[in-house]
Amino acid sequence: MTHNINKNIKKEYNNFSTLKKQKPEERRCLPCMKYKVELLTGIRPTGDLTVANYLGAIAPIVELQAQGVSPVVFVADLHAITDNEPATVRQYIHGVVADYIALGVDPRKAKIYLQSDIAGEVTTFTALLARLVSVAELLRVPTLKDKLKSNARPETANALLLLYPVLMAADILLNRAKKVPVGEDQLAHMEVTRMLARRFNKRYREIFPIPQVLQVKSLRILSLKGKGKMSKTNPGGAIFLTDDIKTVANKIKAAETAFEGVMNDKLESLVLIAKGLAKTESECEEVDAIIQAHMSGKRVMGQFKQILTRIAQNFLEEFQTKRVEILRDPSYIPSVLEEGSKVAKENAIETLSAVRRALQFD
Ligand code: ATP
Ligand code: MG
Repeated sequence: MTHNINKNIKKEYNNFSTLKKQKPEERRCLPCMKYKVELLTGIRPTGDLTVANYLGAIAPIVELQAQGVSPVVFVADLHAITDNEPATVRQYIHGVVADYIALGVDPRKAKIYLQSDIAGEVTTFTALLARLVSVAELLRVPTLKDKLKSNARPETANALLLLYPVLMAADILLNRAKKVPVGEDQLAHMEVTRMLARRFNKRYREIFPIPQVLQVKSLRILSLKGKGKMSKTNPGGAIFLTDDIKTVANKIKAAETAFEGVMNDKLESLVLIAKGLAKTESECEEVDAIIQAHMSGKRVMGQFKQILTRIAQNFLEEFQTKRVEILRDPSYIPSVLEEGSKVAKENAIETLSAVRRALQFD
């Protein structure tokens, strides 16, 4: 289904998957603490998910799960309250978990936990890590700079925005995660995480194995309209997984494409969506053929949009049916989260007590 998109991720994953091939940096940490979680990923419960969230963050996890990896997924509600009301965030938690399961994350193989179920450990650790980075360094994080330029202002943005990368480092290091798949938007944050782990190791004791980035290349799906990437908090240009068939058709109809013979970022994103959501190889071939025609100067964007609409509608219909089934039993999602949080809590307690010992703070 997502074969083309996930080629890169598969290749990269195979490169790192054996502990034997560790770089010296990681080997040094082995006597102290080992990687605990092979693959960690988080999602902010800030709204219904978009097809970009699926293609950029969830499809690669499902793919790796199929190869035998047991991922850990956390619902990042503490991250989400940076720019959303806690009461609003709460409303989205169960829906996001249902989305993940309906998209193929299997709770029998993966663990799904709620970040605030281990809030005590996460926030304590955030405070301990925040001591290792200066305010000036945090102000230099490019994602913060971008955010302050676009949709937040230093006068009104709350201070959690500044601490965002430290909180993220706390999640990753508490889990002692080996690989963290991130889109381009999160690369700078991963650098902060790695830097904090190294600083802690150097200043106190070598307890952290350094987490690695599993970069999902070329997967920055753009907004269907206007500037920037597709994102759930910018609904105008997003296809939501919960959109009904008619809405999807209208959104695709209004999407920006390219002139005959031209390939641009917008069209490339639409092609990624089409091929990523396609259920069969023949649908992918259909997309390739129409894009070939387009590149040779033919006027086929109308036809391309029809194909894209059909593919998206099929995908969404199947997804939405599954999601309804999952949510039918009101005790199912809470039980999945309870199981996941139990494991996360055990790991977090283990890591945090090692941290406290290293700091002589217990
Ligand atoms: P928000 O507007 O709340 O930030 P978002 O749509 O950007 O919402 P996040 O919860 O920030 O979603 O990110 C969830 C995951 O989806 C991350 O791994 C992120 O890299 C990925 N992701 C988000 N937007 C895109 C995109 N446009 N293309 C590819 N991947 C994306
Ligand atoms: Mg985001």
